[in-house]
Amino acid sequence: MNVRERGFLITAILFLVIVGEQRGVSGAETPSEGKAAAGRIVKVGEGTQLTIGDFDISSAADLQGVLERLKRELPRMKAAGVTSHETYVRWNLVETSLGKFDFSLYDQIAELDHSLGIKWVPFIIIGPAYATPDWFYSSKHSVKYVCLEHGEESAIESLWNPHLRGHVSRFMKEFAAHYEPMGVIESVLLGITGNYGEAIYPATSGEDWTSRTHGKYHSHPGYWAGDQHAVRSFQRWLKNKYRDIASLNRDWKTNHRDFSRIKTFLRKDAPSTRAWLDMLDWYRGSMNDWAAFWMKTARKYFPQTNIYLCTGGDGNPMHGSDFGEQCRVAASVYGGVRITNEGSSYPDNFSLTRWIASAGRLYGAYYGFEPAGGVSPAAVAARCYNATASGARQLHYYFGNIFMSSQAEDNWLKSAQFFRRREPKVEVALFYPQTDIELGGQDFLRYPRALRDFFDFDYLSEGMIRDGGLKRYKALIIAGGHTVEITTLRRIRAWCLWEGGIVIASGTSAPLVTVEGDDTLYRLLLDTDGAIVDQGPREGYFRFVAKTLAELPVLSRDTREVIALDSKTDNLYWTLFEDGEILILNQNPKDVTWGFTFLGKYMRPTIPAYGIWSSKVSAISRQ
Ligand SMILES: [Zn+2]
Repeated sequence: MNVRERGFLITAILFLVIVGEQRGVSGAETPSEGKAAAGRIVKVGEGTQLTIGDFDISSAADLQGVLERLKRELPRMKAAGVTSHETYVRWNLVETSLGKFDFSLYDQIAELDHSLGIKWVPFIIIGPAYATPDWFYSSKHSVKYVCLEHGEESAIESLWNPHLRGHVSRFMKEFAAHYEPMGVIESVLLGITGNYGEAIYPATSGEDWTSRTHGKYHSHPGYWAGDQHAVRSFQRWLKNKYRDIASLNRDWKTNHRDFSRIKTFLRKDAPSTRAWLDMLDWYRGSMNDWAAFWMKTARKYFPQTNIYLCTGGDGNPMHGSDFGEQCRVAASVYGGVRITNEGSSYPDNFSLTRWIASAGRLYGAYYGFEPAGGVSPAAVAARCYNATASGARQLHYYFGNIFMSSQAEDNWLKSAQFFRRREPKVEVALFYPQTDIELGGQDFLRYPRALRDFFDFDYLSEGMIRDGGLKRYKALIIAGGHTVEITTLRRIRAWCLWEGGIVIASGTSAPLVTVEGDDTLYRLLLDTDGAIVDQGPREGYFRFVAKTLAELPVLSRDTREVIALDSKTDNLYWTLFEDGEILILNQNPKDVTWGFTFLGKYMRPTIPAYGIWSSKVSAISRQ
């Protein structure tokens, strides 16, 4: 099995659905001589995790070759600062028959990693077709996802399958009892569902490498809520929300006689906007419940270990992923989230990972970033920058991303020193219009992608606003989205009225209206003292926002100055940290020398092409 194929497929989806320039190349074809092995030793910062994925097995027959490659490459990885090696742990390669656990294959990998001074990250996969043991796959306890588009069954276990939870618990208990005492594990990554293991519903074709275990299967982007357990779960959820059918009929504009008559449905069959939003709330909520079950179970058996929930995609509503909720769920058990959607473009990577970084800090979950597949040699530093500038604890590369090209390896060795635990200082947030994305699809990320070249900011989704997220920021930018829940507008207005919050909006963009179609509250919001409205053309809006923020007294002086500097420079990206440090990423193909004054001190750094520069200026004045 080639794990990178998984990434390429996801990359293909991202490419089609959202991203545009996402097609990275995975380095040159010729392996380098290994500069790290030749003696250069770098280290990443204390408390960070640099994990390399690759060297996986799909059967016992792969093991010998994998061990030989690992023996050859581990010293070089260690010299490049790698702290851990990650492998897929497939349920079917461990529980060979019901109740019979055999860890001998993975023991040899984990022990070899450990003996050469690198920790192990097991990626535990239960649910995706390629990891399901034969004895379960064909048993009456197997319940697979069924799509609403065709009513056809997939080969992936449904998260509504009531029999699956017991198997996850048993597996985790046995796995932890075996590996915890060995002291080999750096963190545990949970592969809970979907085609590959991410906390999203099936989203790619079932004809790739994941079909090698049980054959080709029905799979595509869509809504996978057609099995009988899913339908019953939806009915229970509706009954719990509405209590009596008359209330549901009033909100949905329907005439259902009983909850038990309601089936799951596609958007085209939704009787009303509210009905569709309910369907999506339940669909997403089911994914969150499933993630919460896994995280709690893992925490029970791994009381001290870092645990990451694996997630991916771009927040498309059909994926069922609410990255804010996934962070909240992870934080509730002192866990973290790994997001696996990066490519080679820094603004794309920023737009795809910033929700996790913002929500992780709000709720208290740690987080790590992984590429969906190939990463160009030049982008090795950009990925390091995004992780450290976002406050990530963990950074993942596939082996080929760094070690299959001397240029990539060189770039990594230069960048490694910058990867350490940092606390970004971010006083400005961009409103993430969740409800609008649910109704209209994921078309929002182009805004943060473009805005990032002006300045650094976080995301605030409607769920994060509900959970008090506005308190962390001084200004909120509205840039896109038309439909919003009324409670979100109420909270934003209250924040402006009573907590000095500043909202910035474009007066020439369409107003935000409630799901019920009312724009009164938005107009009231723009009339409060805390609102700044640009009356210029929409094309100049981001420039207006940057200029406004650079002069906004409510922001601290260092934030204002960095926004003023960042918005003047194209393809230079700035991040400010709580300790006063500034990091700059240069995405120009040549070195840039630039003189500027920050907090009264003149600097004239040369920032290397596709490289990183750090100030280490301590803040002279903070407000
Ligand atoms: Zn289908």
